Amino acid sequence: MGNDSADNLVKLYSEMVVLLKQEEVIRRETEEKLLNAKAAIDPRKEFNKWLKTNTGKTWKLKQFDYQDSKCAACRDPLRFADAVVHHVLPLKDFGSAANKPENFKLLHPGCNLAIGTKIVDFSD
Ligand SMILES: [Zn+2]
Repeated sequence: MGNDSADNLVKLYSEMVVLLKQEEVIRRETEEKLLNAKAAIDPRKEFNKWLKTNTGKTWKLKQFDYQDSKCAACRDPLRFADAVVHHVLPLKDFGSAANKPENFKLLHPGCNLAIGTKIVDFSD
């Protein structure tokens, strides 16, 4: 009789361990989905994600060419590796609406930092 109870207890414990592991997997999957969902509504993350896509990379190459390898702000020569994407209408105020290639210019990191979220007209 005593053995039966001990066996039952062992069985219940192993079932519990299995359930805890399943719970852990579900929790991790849910966290991951949540992170992706947050990224989708966070315009900064949405932008960073886009820039890593082929469309984003191609846009940057074309834009660099279009800007004649020059910074859109100071017009000095710009190295592709240094070029940062500036949002003309700032993400801070315009959110996802600012995440359009028409709203992007390539700048020196320092020029981008100096402009910050001020709205500058880059047309000459
Ligand atoms: Zn510059």
